[in-house]
Amino acid sequence: MLKRVLIANRGEIALRVLRACRELDIETVAVYSQADEEALHVQLATQAVCIGPARAADSYLNQDALLTVAKAAGCDGVHPGYGFLSENADFADACAAEGLTFIGPSGDTIRKAGSKSAARDIMRAAGVPVTPGSDGPVTSVEDALAAAEKVGYPVLLKASAGGGGRGIRRCDDAGALPAAWAEAKAEAKACFGNDEMYLEKLVLRPRHIEFQILADRQGHVVHLGDRDCSVQRRNQKLIEEAPARCLTPGLRARMGEAAVRAARAVGYEGAGTVEFLLDADGEHFYFMEMNTRIQVEHGVTELVTGVDLVRQQLRIASGLSLDFAQEDVRLEGHAMECRINAENPAEDFRPCPGQVEFLHFPGGAGVRVDSCLYDGCTLSPYYDSLAAKLLVHAPTRLEAIRKMRRCLEEFTLEGFPTNAELSYQILYHPTFVRGGCTTAFLDENLPDLLDFSRRVREKEGDA
Ligand code: ADP
Ligand code: ADP
Ligand code: MG
Repeated sequence: MLKRVLIANRGEIALRVLRACRELDIETVAVYSQADEEALHVQLATQAVCIGPARAADSYLNQDALLTVAKAAGCDGVHPGYGFLSENADFADACAAEGLTFIGPSGDTIRKAGSKSAARDIMRAAGVPVTPGSDGPVTSVEDALAAAEKVGYPVLLKASAGGGGRGIRRCDDAGALPAAWAEAKAEAKACFGNDEMYLEKLVLRPRHIEFQILADRQGHVVHLGDRDCSVQRRNQKLIEEAPARCLTPGLRARMGEAAVRAARAVGYEGAGTVEFLLDADGEHFYFMEMNTRIQVEHGVTELVTGVDLVRQQLRIASGLSLDFAQEDVRLEGHAMECRINAENPAEDFRPCPGQVEFLHFPGGAGVRVDSCLYDGCTLSPYYDSLAAKLLVHAPTRLEAIRKMRRCLEEFTLEGFPTNAELSYQILYHPTFVRGGCTTAFLDENLPDLLDFSRRVREKEGDA
């Protein structure tokens, strides 16, 4: 097994990795920026080293600083978490060149999956259905107009290097394309330093269904079932659940098999996610992208499968083979996650970080809270606004919904606004309760959901 792992991340995911290491007797080296001196991951690690100023570019994205610390501290592995350098192929290569095990796939695999436009070509060639769209990148407005004409409006312009829902613009007709093109490109440049674009047909009212993959170095690839992440704002997930209610066993098997094929097509190793859109007809599905890292919402899969995904990442990176096969994977009960963000849904989800004045997390049977917050700590404005992940596990979906409502009633965070009340409203919405949410749900129902007085009425008539 690995002996000493550098955790090249912060926040709740740094804690998550640290906990898995601790349980495997792996020592941890935490890194932190000047803004994170008092962070929990710093306090709980075997050793912690400051790597620079608050700005991510000067700290958590500073590859040289991270590698220097890893070597000086005697680490043999590096866990990148999610975000930051987790999908940076050059960083994976640099770790390998320094004799450090990058806990994730090879730089080569990250490169193949990381350009979302190039990944489409690879998947098509591997027989995985992809969303209709441009063949390869589109390089000019004229090019984009021609590609859009071919696939038919409405279309989405998407950044090849995109992530976190950024660099994506919808376009309903040719007249709107030049402006959308400029906006998407500028956002991609600002967020990813890369403004290569491609184009996809907009799938109307789809569901976001993704499959969790684990692959070892011995060539075993398994999937751990699916997650429905259709409740989104600005193409970013808010509520995730497993298993997806809309999949029949037959469709689940077909999509799972496509996900495994997708992972094999890029020579996958470690934990990864294959994202699909499921058409409104509930039958056709399309590959959207592969995330070559642990996912924010990995916990719901852990709850229904009983598999500790970060532990598996560490085992695989240590060279061990998977200790179970596809037929051993069982999905038990239903799990759900609410992401609690420091943001104001009533002001277009504007991030509002600040100091925690009072904090109470829910608990009890079937409840898990992943968060790095504690009473009095500050949620930094420099990084993403995720404050806590509330997870529940129950025998049935309705029981999971009821448990999550109870958790949100108990959850108290004073000091800054969050989306907790909005999530509570969603959990009472008939469309959600029925399992009928598409990715359009939140946008279409936002005004109604933000009318918090509604809750009492709905509660009274609740099933
Ligand atoms: P998930 O599918 O795991 O929910 P998200 O797309 O929500 O992934 O992103 C998870 C985290 O990683 C967020 O903090 C997001 O800002 C960040 N992230 C995702 N992709 C990128 C990227 N290409 N570059 C920088 N940060 C990213
Ligand atoms: P990111 O890398 O930012 O996560 P994705 O390609 O995974 O980008 O897309 C993010 C979200 O945008 C999806 O979950 C989905 O809701 C929406 N989306 C992306 N592509 C399409 C499409 N072709 N049609 C409809 N919705 C889409
Ligand atoms: Mg995605």
